[in-house]
Amino acid sequence: MHIQTKQEILEVLSMPAPAFWAAVAPAAQKVCRDQFGDTLLVTAMLAYSNICKNQCLYCGMRAGSPIPRYRMSPAEILPLTQRAREAGLGRMFPLSGDDGNYGFDNLLTLVEGLRTQGFSIALGAGELEPDQYRALHSAGVEEYVLKFEMSHPDSFNQLNPSTTFQKRMEAAQLIKEAGMKLASGNIVDWPGQTLDELADDILLMKELDISWAPNIPYLPALHTPLASRGGPGSRLLNNKEIALVRLLLPGIKITAQQPGEDLTKGLADEQGNLDAIACGANLLFCDLLPDAKADAFRPIDRRNVSGLAHCQEVARRSGLTLDLGG
Ligand code: SF4
Repeated sequence: MHIQTKQEILEVLSMPAPAFWAAVAPAAQKVCRDQFGDTLLVTAMLAYSNICKNQCLYCGMRAGSPIPRYRMSPAEILPLTQRAREAGLGRMFPLSGDDGNYGFDNLLTLVEGLRTQGFSIALGAGELEPDQYRALHSAGVEEYVLKFEMSHPDSFNQLNPSTTFQKRMEAAQLIKEAGMKLASGNIVDWPGQTLDELADDILLMKELDISWAPNIPYLPALHTPLASRGGPGSRLLNNKEIALVRLLLPGIKITAQQPGEDLTKGLADEQGNLDAIACGANLLFCDLLPDAKADAFRPIDRRNVSGLAHCQEVARRSGLTLDLGG
């Protein structure tokens, strides 16, 4: 199936569900199988701080949101990641809120420790200075995760008042100039998003030549301004985006950790994950965060990312073999 233009993208976004599941999803899944074989990728993830100085209107961890806050030092993190390495996991995704007080030296210590443990590292630590991106790449970060969230500058600037769309695009460029791959994506079907804007989001992923699409549908979070305007986002539109991104960017990672009908199961809903895989998604998370902290890392309510047993069950039900990257 050939998808290139905005018109073709809009046709898929507008088509009835039966036509999508009959034609587009299988074509996207075939492209994924052609690229990755019968494998389902897993990355360990560890959210080391939920402290954030920003005020994104959709995020449950925005500054001032009344949630318990935590920050983990490299000394607390590295024993957990060492156990994951010994369990065969080879990809690591440390992430945090935009925690301006974590300390860049601490971040470098963490990255160097993870590299010494033998991980390939994708880091999500917010917008940084140009020399910091270069230092992180030198320390071992191969991929940097910075979502653009919304491709229309007016929408971005309204929903992300702590930065600007221009700064976000400049950051994307700096990440690539520093030698890292760029992981980036959007929020699907937030209250007020049009299909035209969603199509432009998908085209921006192509234009940025991303290595990983970490997108999910809009899921309302307590204590956020956007939650009062509507939601959650459409799972069908999210699955359509996954298929379109797979057709436009065949060789990238696409997050399969997606919600299902029962939103109380969060991102660990097996059917939600399986539906995403049927549309060409190919990456699950293995959460290393201790339970006591996992509930507090909540950009969305009920994130519920789970562990390796969940990944194994999703792989079994989808007939795929897990690739732990170890
Ligand atoms: S989306 Fe990220 S930067 Fe924005 S408030 Fe949430 S944690 Fe902070």
